[in-house]
Amino acid sequence: MYSFKSISSFHGDLKSGAVTCAQVVDELLSSIEQKKSLNIFLETFAASAKQQALQVDKKIKEGKEGRLAGVVIALKDNICYKDHRVSNSSKILENFTSLFSATVVERLLAEDAIIIGRTNCDEFAMGSSNENSAFGPVLNPHNEKTVTGGSSGGSAAAVAAGLCHVALGSDTGGSIRQPASFCGVVGVKPHYGRVSRWGLLAYASSFDQIGPLSKNVADAALVLEIMAGADDYDSTASQKPVPKYSGSLDIPLTGKKIAYLKDCMESPGLNPDVKKRLHETIDKLKAQGITVEGVDFPYLDYLVPTYYVLTTAEASSNLSRYDGVHFGYRSPNATDLESTYKKSRTEGFGKEVKRRIMLGTFVLSAGYYDAYYSKAQKVRRLLRDKTLEILSKYDFILTPSTPGTAFEIGKNSNDPIQMYLEDIFTVQANIVGIPGISIPVGTDSKNMPIGAQLMARPFEEAEMLAMAGNMERFF
Ligand code: GLN
Repeated sequence: MYSFKSISSFHGDLKSGAVTCAQVVDELLSSIEQKKSLNIFLETFAASAKQQALQVDKKIKEGKEGRLAGVVIALKDNICYKDHRVSNSSKILENFTSLFSATVVERLLAEDAIIIGRTNCDEFAMGSSNENSAFGPVLNPHNEKTVTGGSSGGSAAAVAAGLCHVALGSDTGGSIRQPASFCGVVGVKPHYGRVSRWGLLAYASSFDQIGPLSKNVADAALVLEIMAGADDYDSTASQKPVPKYSGSLDIPLTGKKIAYLKDCMESPGLNPDVKKRLHETIDKLKAQGITVEGVDFPYLDYLVPTYYVLTTAEASSNLSRYDGVHFGYRSPNATDLESTYKKSRTEGFGKEVKRRIMLGTFVLSAGYYDAYYSKAQKVRRLLRDKTLEILSKYDFILTPSTPGTAFEIGKNSNDPIQMYLEDIFTVQANIVGIPGISIPVGTDSKNMPIGAQLMARPFEEAEMLAMAGNMERFF
């Protein structure tokens, strides 16, 4: 069995003939089969993946291969791949087949990546544990009694369990970084608009971003570099030129300044093992001569409420298209147009998705709009101003990725507020729009992975990746 370490060493092995893409794809498909009980993949795309592998092997022989030649990628089940199914882990889209590919998928394929399948996630990317999937939870490969985090839980677990080389996730409030932290892998949320959202099933359009989950920072940098950049199909995709992230990992770090949020590190809900690891990380950074200072951010308590008012409002609008007429599931019990809408949505959506649609409809309704929705928009601006004020003095903000490590399956299921608080450190980057990354920084007393989060100035993914690459060498 080929043991994948990084894209660059894999490419060396492909070129020397030590391994072929066809062999790697076959091995990964049988590993996925063996680890079926973890419920990571909803479907493998075996036929198309094997065919791609043969084509890429041929290109390698001819010396015509792309920059992601043979890299086996898993897609979160909310990213479209033409002629393949995509369900957002929802019954309402269970048998839906994509009519086109997402821009990110087109760009990866153009560089000869191989798409191996679609991974389980929380339904419509709403969740922090992957327990909201209509197709059952994903089990954490580090301890099968615990959750993977969510919503990109299948993608994080696929990388952690060695079932693909890199996976794509989407991050609206932490859905790449939080599962990356729980599964001990790297997860990147780019700046809002850095990566096209064309072909990503929308949850909250002013927050959503696609990003990579990988074994190391260098692999994430290369995949991000290939996916990022302007796109005619997404007017919110930034026109800014994309730096060569893969070549930025050795940007000099001397003189860089990091702020850590004292309010996060002193928050009573913070697990003591996580706190200890973060302090160790800070000490190691200081030992390198990097300035790390605690700063005040007295707005921590406003992050989660602002996030949940705005994202549910956007979701209630985005999800109105699933009406039993345009896409996916139509109730067999419907008798007229109105009962088609009502019954299809009632039977097709899960509990959490319905909760959020109702919450979002409420905060947008006449009489409550000013009290909730427009108030939250104003708070969003305030949170952005305060965060950018910190980033005017410091290059990065450092926090734990999550307050704790992977918790037991079922532990938070009956308490939505407790579940929402899982996102307390990650939602800030999405509210403000800035880039964020989670990197593994060791384990807790039960051997479960701990993640540290770095956030960077607007569009400074290159600097963030360089600092993260430096930190990954500590552990
Ligand atoms: N856990 C958060 C939520 O439930 C984040 C989800 C996400 O980033 N897609 O909304």
